[in-house]
Amino acid sequence: MLLTRMVQLNQKKISSMNSFSNRIVNWYKKNGRHDLPWRKNISPYSIWISEIMLQQTQVKTVIPYFNKFIEKYPDLEALIQASEDEILAQWSGLGFYRRAKNIYKACRMINENFNNKLPTNINDLESLPGIGRSTAGAIMSIAFNEGHPILDANVKRVLGRYKKISFKTENEKQKKLWLISEKLTPNKRSFEYTQGIMDLGATHCSKSKPNCDVCPVSNDCYSAFEEVTNNISLKKAIQKPTVKLNFILPHTKNEILMHKKQAPEYWESLWIPIDGNEVKIKGTQRYSKIKVNHPLSHLNLDMKIKAFEIDKKYDLDSNLEYKWIKKSKVNEYAMPTPIKKVVSAL
Ligand code: SF4
Repeated sequence: MLLTRMVQLNQKKISSMNSFSNRIVNWYKKNGRHDLPWRKNISPYSIWISEIMLQQTQVKTVIPYFNKFIEKYPDLEALIQASEDEILAQWSGLGFYRRAKNIYKACRMINENFNNKLPTNINDLESLPGIGRSTAGAIMSIAFNEGHPILDANVKRVLGRYKKISFKTENEKQKKLWLISEKLTPNKRSFEYTQGIMDLGATHCSKSKPNCDVCPVSNDCYSAFEEVTNNISLKKAIQKPTVKLNFILPHTKNEILMHKKQAPEYWESLWIPIDGNEVKIKGTQRYSKIKVNHPLSHLNLDMKIKAFEIDKKYDLDSNLEYKWIKKSKVNEYAMPTPIKKVVSAL
């Protein structure tokens, strides 16, 4: 009780002298992660790509993919020329491929409706596939220095702890956090503020060990120096279903038979082996068996792959979209990581 009262007094006192946003901005200037690749030569395009990659993926995983992507498609003009297959191939290994498909769809809209330029207002940005309120807010704040609230996972943690919100449902939690984010986001210096609050969440206000000693808002944070409990999330751990897959993978000395998956429940539009129930193998019955288990966010895949060594490629009697892919060109196709590993070892 006494602690809460002290924090309330601190919040009042501090708000007039040194607001939450000012402290975040000043902290960012000295301590921000200025060397992240998307923070060099900042453009709306590079911020858009980085923000999409950072949805559901950690910074250290994103960095090499971002660098590779920007090397191949240095600007929006270059990306607009790319096919969906080419964008998916660049995305190969990063996972959550719907993000890449949305980038392709967004490019089509930008080409048709926005004169090949990324929109410069929040509503138009939000109309693009894959760009929600938080991503649009980040692009507006960082690329256009226009204050808009954001609410990514790191920011949720900082704000939730700073105000120590209580909630009964995920929906209620979300609403409260947006209100707090709206209130605390400044109109000016949003470039520094937005990156600062993201960085604070990623570095000091970490999930398991918040480093309140060096946090710029610890004076008036309601959760400062408290032992961390996991009561910030109401999401229950759910048991993921397992899908069993029996693939066949015929291959000659130089080529592999693959097909482009159409069904959307996972790996949509990626190149994978053919379902052994759909197509019968011709010729040789010599094969090696490969077992692979691969967890996805919503499913576990339990794969059995029979890799047939054959002398000559042949046409399939099937409506599947398939292709004999040159082993030397595997990297030019979008394939899920576990499949690419198997295929590369043949
Ligand atoms: S004081 Fe601690 S809990 Fe509060 S925002 Fe800073 S790091 Fe997080």
